[in-house]
Amino acid sequence: MSEEIYDVLQVGFGPVGQANAAILGGGGHSVAVFERYPTLYGLPRAGHLDHETVRLLQSFGIAERMTSLMVRANKYVFQNQHGDELVSFNWDEMGVSGWASDWYVYQPDLEDALADVVHLFPNVEVNQGWEVVSVSEAGDHVALIARPAGGDASQDRIVRGRYLVAADGGNSFVRTALGIEQEDLGFHERWAVTDYRPTKEIHFDFDNGQIADPARPLNLFQLGKRHRRIASLILPHEATEEMKISDAGWKLIAPHGVTPDNAELVRHTVYVFESKIATQWRRGRCFLVGDACHVMPPFMGQGLLSGIRDVANLGWKLSLVLNGQATERLLDTYMAERRPHARQLTEMSIHAGRLMVTTDPEEATRRDAAYRAGTVPPPPQFPSLTSGVLHRDVNGDLAASAGELAPQGRVSTGTQAGLFDDVVGRGWVLLLADADIFRALRDEELAVLEQLHARVAHFGPGRDLQDLSGAYRDYFEKYEIKALLYRPDFYVFGGARTAAELRELLADLDRQLPRSAAAGSVTTGTGA
Ligand SMILES: Cc1cc2nc3c(=O)[nH]c(=O)nc-3n(C[C@H](O)[C@H](O)[C@H](O)COP(=O)(O)OP(=O)(O)OC[C@H]3O[C@@H](n4cnc5c(N)ncnc54)[C@H](O)[C@@H]3O)c2cc1C
Repeated sequence: MSEEIYDVLQVGFGPVGQANAAILGGGGHSVAVFERYPTLYGLPRAGHLDHETVRLLQSFGIAERMTSLMVRANKYVFQNQHGDELVSFNWDEMGVSGWASDWYVYQPDLEDALADVVHLFPNVEVNQGWEVVSVSEAGDHVALIARPAGGDASQDRIVRGRYLVAADGGNSFVRTALGIEQEDLGFHERWAVTDYRPTKEIHFDFDNGQIADPARPLNLFQLGKRHRRIASLILPHEATEEMKISDAGWKLIAPHGVTPDNAELVRHTVYVFESKIATQWRRGRCFLVGDACHVMPPFMGQGLLSGIRDVANLGWKLSLVLNGQATERLLDTYMAERRPHARQLTEMSIHAGRLMVTTDPEEATRRDAAYRAGTVPPPPQFPSLTSGVLHRDVNGDLAASAGELAPQGRVSTGTQAGLFDDVVGRGWVLLLADADIFRALRDEELAVLEQLHARVAHFGPGRDLQDLSGAYRDYFEKYEIKALLYRPDFYVFGGARTAAELRELLADLDRQLPRSAAAGSVTTGTGA
């Protein structure tokens, strides 16, 4: 047995764990990852990514690699068996994050790219083929016991860390070991998921979307450039075990012209799509992320993306605490910020799922009539953050754009042009439409920015930093602000119209970030 101390222990190396290890590894923290499987999972599940995630991939240096493997989405339609559109989502826009809004992805491509990033960091130790069999907290650290696959207790390794991140999936061992309950939002449906790779060109009348046919609700989907999926609701009289076999898969996809003559099966299986969310996301020094703390039906393609948001949120907070720049109290904001967001996306996914799973033809007819008459309540809105480290005005209301995603546009410094994060940088960023507003700040307000190693970037006449795409001009105009402060996870802390408001915004940040020690100096952007 050996004893080692790490900044963070991590259980699970699925996509959410990989993103977590990449964020903490990039922050210079020592991380020990334990994953029970000896290799990456290698099979697709998630098929959809959005602009917010691609901006995070950009920070890892793999956005170009991934966008070359993904397909940009277009309109995503839910239609009935007669081809009448019931609901649609415009997935063919430019996202505020500087990337196309929506993409179709083959998950193994994403996992390969994320794992390559993690392996760049010598401070991240990835132990594949090790199952975590015990987790316990002891005062100032947490300990786990990991056992090699197929091994016994004599080969156990005890490892200690200051914090533990459980990215161990929907059946999370850690969640169970910590006795954390889940709230069940009530969706349970069996779906057969058949993934295949066309070997010849196959024509589809309906490319990507959902067909709410009561005879067999279906989902037809592209997975990156080379693979496709047909997901089919399992009808009440069909036995799960029988529907799992490959022959059942071929039978389900044959009516769509997909046969062994023009495709090879990548994987066929049955999933029970559920909607559960952990009641606690933190217990002491342990944090749940990804499917370990929320599972949702995949109809909005937001399960993995919610997990990636979890680790982007937790990552900067753990980093500040590990660096001694904030106290542990900051870590309580993780669940306060993330749970309502993930819950709302779960509700959206259930809303979409309920529209899909009707198998009674008469109920389907009533549903279609209700859509035609416009009497169906609209789906819940796509969420933003509503609590946590966000600026509020004197009335306690969220300040302009607080909790929303910060924009990213193309900028130029005179010598360099590209997306803002690559040209100027990321982390805490104060963007200014007007440099005078910054000159009005006093030392104590600047100290808050220094503490966070914040970047300050000025646009405006006479500055080197130019807003090539006009994204920042449009954003400032939309919210009628002259300054915007956003966080390392790209969520806006708040905006300000005047120097006085900016001073109040920074004073509020100072109050909200429980600080333990002063450190750092202002990093000014190229345009400063
Ligand atoms: C059919 C389908 C379609 C989907 N479509 C989408 C989509 O389009 N978009 C989207 O965003 N999401 C989608 N999802 C959801 C998405 O796939 C999941 O949210 C995501 O894969 C979860 O990642 P994770 O890393 O949290 O968990 P997992 O990928 O489950 O990884 C957990 C890891 O932990 C390991 N582990 C577990 N216990 C232990 C232990 N005791 N010790 C060591 N290791 C352990 C496991 O081996 C596993 O590798 C879909 C899901 C399905 C099933």
